[in-house]
Amino acid sequence: MLIAEIEHLNTILNRIGDGVISVDSNGLIDFVNQAALRLLSQRQEDMLHSPIARCLIIQNKTGQTFSFDDLPVHDALKQGVSTTLDVSSPERYSFVRWDRTLFPVSITVMPGSALNPTNGGATLVFHDISGDERIDKAKGEFISLISHQLRTPVSIINWYSEKLLRTGVESLTEEQEKYAQEIFKSTRRIGELVTGVVNASRADLDRLRNKHEEVELWSVVQEVARQLASLAHGRGVTVDVGESSEPVIIEGSDKEYIEIILQNLTNNAIKYSSKDGHVAIGLQRIRPGEVLNRQLGQMCERAGVVISIQDEGIGIPDDQKAEIFSKLFRAKNAQALDIVGVGLGLYIAKTYTKFLGGSIWFESKVHSGTTFYVYLPTTLNKEGDDVAR
Ligand code: ADP
Repeated sequence: MLIAEIEHLNTILNRIGDGVISVDSNGLIDFVNQAALRLLSQRQEDMLHSPIARCLIIQNKTGQTFSFDDLPVHDALKQGVSTTLDVSSPERYSFVRWDRTLFPVSITVMPGSALNPTNGGATLVFHDISGDERIDKAKGEFISLISHQLRTPVSIINWYSEKLLRTGVESLTEEQEKYAQEIFKSTRRIGELVTGVVNASRADLDRLRNKHEEVELWSVVQEVARQLASLAHGRGVTVDVGESSEPVIIEGSDKEYIEIILQNLTNNAIKYSSKDGHVAIGLQRIRPGEVLNRQLGQMCERAGVVISIQDEGIGIPDDQKAEIFSKLFRAKNAQALDIVGVGLGLYIAKTYTKFLGGSIWFESKVHSGTTFYVYLPTTLNKEGDDVAR
């Protein structure tokens, strides 16, 4: 590049609002723009010609700190492809300034140094997303507030329409009874939606709090089966809860959250079953060293329980399995059959399970059925670690 071209590029890069840092093939910084210096509270003379791994300290959402070399973008860089880590990436990163303050970033890495691209190296462009996060949080708070406010009136309408159908049915004409049935059905749907939004926003706003209580799992499974009995009955589906020969207790967990996980999975198993279908819920203890997830060949590290919810329903198509836990995702076969849903249940089940130190996975075959598995460790201490293996 001509000197005049380099100077022109330098001026442009120094005027843009995003941070730009470029390194040579040895990972030494050969350019850093004004925005990067400002965002990182650094001086140019301290960064230029220093290894990037020393200048950029990165932290993930759980507070784990690592160097630039550990980022997935660094791997991709070695293979010469551009990579972006942004708000849609599963992992969220923040840069750590020298004064230990943080700011969340989206990062794009491109092969080739900014000023001398033919000599290898790489260019990293980053954007401070704290403003975007604030907007996201404000939107989340708004949704959470509205959904909480909706809960009470919806349950009142639900309660009165149910009461009308139970006790006042003799005084209703056939047509009025039909209207009352419609009100009841639709309010139940709104109620499910509102509950889904409330539960999802609790997780999104980091408002999950573990009560750290002792939970007997069979009783939770039975309670959930009882709550969903009328839905199952209406669809002609039988729900079998396995034999409870002895209590299965987990410690340091949260009964309400486990109930929410199982409600969502059992509700789905019933909803996506064909008429006269069969749903089976079982519990199995698992010890360290035993195979946890056969598909992934994953071993159990700490003693726990695997809850399985099996149905003989429509199944999940292979090409949509990867997205099934994403928020608002619904598989095409479910949509085509006009089965009511919004795509929050599995997202909630997964975030709540992870919160309780567990994992969730499934096996499924179209037209044959689906089994969801939830693993929960038997004992959690207050930090979420196990205290007994
Ligand atoms: P919803 O059921 O409200 O659509 P979920 O988040 O609970 O949302 O599920 C997401 C999608 O996963 C569903 O729309 C459906 O396509 C698929 N799914 C979940 N559970 C089952 C199941 N037991 N059998 C078949 N498909 C399922």
